[in-house]
Amino acid sequence: MDKILDTRKIDKLEKLLDEVSSIVLTCHVRPDGDAIGSTLGWMHVLESLGKSVAVVIPDNAPRSLSFLPGFDRMAVFTRHEEYCEMLFRNADLVICCDFNQPSRLDRMQSLLDLAECPKVLVDHHVDPAPFADIIFSFPDMSSTCELSFRILADLGLYTEMTTEAATCILTGMITDTKNFTVNCKSPDIYEILQRLLEKGCDKNRIVRLSLLEKSYGALMLEAYAISNKMEVLPEYHGSIICLNKEECERFHYEKGDTEGLVNRPTEIRGITFSFFLREDSDCIKVSARSVMDFPVNLICKEIFGGGGHVMAAGAEFHGSLEECRKLLLDAIPKYSQYLKGRTEKLDYFNT
Ligand code: MN
Repeated sequence: MDKILDTRKIDKLEKLLDEVSSIVLTCHVRPDGDAIGSTLGWMHVLESLGKSVAVVIPDNAPRSLSFLPGFDRMAVFTRHEEYCEMLFRNADLVICCDFNQPSRLDRMQSLLDLAECPKVLVDHHVDPAPFADIIFSFPDMSSTCELSFRILADLGLYTEMTTEAATCILTGMITDTKNFTVNCKSPDIYEILQRLLEKGCDKNRIVRLSLLEKSYGALMLEAYAISNKMEVLPEYHGSIICLNKEECERFHYEKGDTEGLVNRPTEIRGITFSFFLREDSDCIKVSARSVMDFPVNLICKEIFGGGGHVMAAGAEFHGSLEECRKLLLDAIPKYSQYLKGRTEKLDYFNT
């Protein structure tokens, strides 16, 4: 495995960890497998060093991650604001996982701001804000969990890694890479996978629980969205799905139910990008995916002020679902230059 971490930063972190006793771990709002996997993974390792550790998250984590060891011990800001504030106030160290800007904590940002202790950032998103004392930022890395494994290994803590810790870390790698199908070109990832499996992780179970399993309603909502709501744009090799609140409620929508839906249109041969617009309680949630480096992050940024990775991005739109759809449809022709020659109109229904 290539040594890619700055040894001075590792030394600094090692020294810091020696000095502190209470540690708070936190991650972004609407946490996913990588956010929860990395914070809980760190928690288990730091606890085996005798530290007092709390994972504090801005809002609820999806039920699909409830199998993770330590899941029930996380403090949720939207449910216990005062308790979470106390944890941040009393922390000697805050480790921030899987986000690049304090605003990604949503309303819980105020707690991060008031914590006067040192902060460490462990993240793989572009353009990290300089809010932490030690910053480990690797936008090319598959996941924050992969980065966490590397840091822990460089700290000499691989031996402290229990099956529980390894299960959490592997979960983030599996969810962010869609079970090693995207962002996983580096051979190192498979070496890390091997090291985690040697700790006794049940990979098949993790894949089933974190990626595949869903409720009856969630599956029916996905089927409905694809068969009734998918608009294919043959001249632009793209697709848009819009779901309003009533449609989501009809299928007993729960947070996380439409998690993988935006990916489904990209399974169509010839499709380059996919947008999914969902009416939420206070805004329209925009998510976008693409193949062949079509820059959906650029579209999300320029049209909606959002952002993300080249092939996986998102935004929030304040206005109606129809306004959001219209804005997007009007803007898409401007980005056809990025289709790189894919300009012939495809007849999707007959291929
Ligand atoms: Mn991530």
